[in-house]
Amino acid sequence: MNAMVMTQAGRPLQMQDLTLPAPEDGQVLIEVSACAVCRTDLHVVDGELTDPKLPLVPGHEIVGRIRSAGRRGSPFAIGDRVGVPWLGWTCGACPFCTQGLENLCSHARFTGYTLDGGYAQFVIADERFCFAIPEKYDDVFAAPLLCAGLIGYRSLVRAGDARVLGIYGFGAAAHIVTQVALHQGRTVFAFTRPGDVKAQEFARSLGVQWSGDSTALPPSELDAAILFAPVGALVPLALAATRKAGIVVCGGIHMSDIPAFPYRLLWGERQLVSVANLTRKDAIDFLSLAAEVPIQTHVKKFFLDQANDALAALRSGNLEGAAVLIPA
Ligand SMILES: [Zn+2]
Ligand SMILES: [Zn+2]
Repeated sequence: MNAMVMTQAGRPLQMQDLTLPAPEDGQVLIEVSACAVCRTDLHVVDGELTDPKLPLVPGHEIVGRIRSAGRRGSPFAIGDRVGVPWLGWTCGACPFCTQGLENLCSHARFTGYTLDGGYAQFVIADERFCFAIPEKYDDVFAAPLLCAGLIGYRSLVRAGDARVLGIYGFGAAAHIVTQVALHQGRTVFAFTRPGDVKAQEFARSLGVQWSGDSTALPPSELDAAILFAPVGALVPLALAATRKAGIVVCGGIHMSDIPAFPYRLLWGERQLVSVANLTRKDAIDFLSLAAEVPIQTHVKKFFLDQANDALAALRSGNLEGAAVLIPA
């Protein structure tokens, strides 16, 4: 049972009784209208990503409106709609930042991990890491673009100009990347957990040419594969399905151990690479592409106080598309 919080006057606490935190110079206060639930949230909640800020508000696929800015001359006006992604702050001075790899900044801070995130009614964010959302997307449908879309897009770019693309793990990121890849004229094959007929049908409904079990070989060799499922055992399977000089991209932030595999799977100049985080350029490039595609995000809405139910649904694999939390 929820305990009711009372004011000093003896009546139940209302939103207007709360004092909102003031954003500092360079920050904005955002009223959250939707926050999508990412697998990384599970890795944070489950302790697989170590040293989070504690206590912590998770959530890094935030859509909301600016309520106040910490300085004059902020690029945003009150009421502007913005999205806040996983990368929440970078130092701008380390060798990675100065070489266009701010995704690898040694001092980076991450929304919903080392900064408070969007499982909340309000969030404070660095204005440099807030992005305008294309108008055609409603808040709820835009939220999954902020990580599933963005990091999925960085993974797709890493896959180069692959014409035949295999996607392993058909969840939130895959369903967005598939639509972008098809828009670019690529052929997509979708691999799911063995026997997950529902996910395989979902993938076909989006237009993939073939979908099947991750243990199966596709109808033709892959030019590149992207792994979104956090399952290390998929790495040798994806390498086996990929042609010589092809690329296997690991798109997740966490993965179970990769089992030993024979060198012949890598030989033939195949490349095995990972994608970490995102840069602001990724956000700008992807959101302008999203304005053009248009991407249909499949979402399941949960109220904010059902956040644990949303996480449980994601953990059990019982979600088609992306879970999105809405403040009541
Ligand atoms: Zn994420
Ligand atoms: Zn840096």
